[in-house]
Amino acid sequence: MDGWSVERLHADHAQALRMAVEHYDSATDHQRIRVFENPTFGRVMTLDGVVQVTEADNFIYHEMLTHVPILAHGAVRRVLIVGGGDGGMAREALKHEAVEQVTMVEIDGAVVDFCRQYLPGISAGAFDDPRLDLVIADGADFMRQNRDEYDVIIVDSTDPVGPGEVLFTDSFYGHAKARLAEGGILVTQNGVPFLQGEELAGTMRAFRALFADPTCYLATVPTYSGGPMAFGWGTDGDARKVDIGTLRDRFEASGIVTDYYTPEVHLGAFALPPYIARHLG
Ligand code: SAM
Repeated sequence: MDGWSVERLHADHAQALRMAVEHYDSATDHQRIRVFENPTFGRVMTLDGVVQVTEADNFIYHEMLTHVPILAHGAVRRVLIVGGGDGGMAREALKHEAVEQVTMVEIDGAVVDFCRQYLPGISAGAFDDPRLDLVIADGADFMRQNRDEYDVIIVDSTDPVGPGEVLFTDSFYGHAKARLAEGGILVTQNGVPFLQGEELAGTMRAFRALFADPTCYLATVPTYSGGPMAFGWGTDGDARKVDIGTLRDRFEASGIVTDYYTPEVHLGAFALPPYIARHLG
């Protein structure tokens, strides 16, 4: 399909986005980066042909992977992001003034450089925030070697093919748990269960062995096609018991303006339909 970016992440289901203007298409040491303009979704970045981020719908994904754990926890000071090269996750995490440090471990420095140039609206200045510590490294290596503690760890990786594969392993999750401070929360990009159910089941198997509270929550992101996306949730704390009144107070105190996240959406996101809940084991 000339003039279209066709995503073939799944065996029997593809997604095509029209490339009205192609801005860039090149390979780094790790993956192929492409950016194009789509009239509906704005600028789109794909890595190895898979949609990573679009200007139009990234707010859903980035708001739900940051504000849910941060507001549920209530006293987050240190955040670790694994992946996140476009800077959108750092953008949302840094909106919390009480967050003192965000460490972001991205394997491909070219993705960061590239997104700063071609997709500046996604990071929206996050890369220049003095609280951001950007580390260019494999997240799995970092997690094995690092000795710091974090209140929230966000795995904002590509899918488990190519460089992202190591971020969906029991050993990675085990090392991540060891980096969590007391009451800390690990959340993960865990694919679209209707098409990637086994991915979620694998993460939940590992989380059941590691955490007192293993589950997932949902949000539908139009360009992660196939239905709701699952976000893995693992913690030994009781952050998921936060009540709506507390969440509303925390959200209001944060002063953060959102387009998807609300305290009501937060609590509702953990209500799982049976076809997804069965992956929790
Ligand atoms: N929102 C996207 C999704 O849900 O698929 C993820 C976007 S973000 C751009 C994914 C990032 O993960 C990329 O920048 C990629 O370079 C990075 N990444 C992949 N494997 C990694 C690894 N092993 N360690 C650190 N970063 C990794």
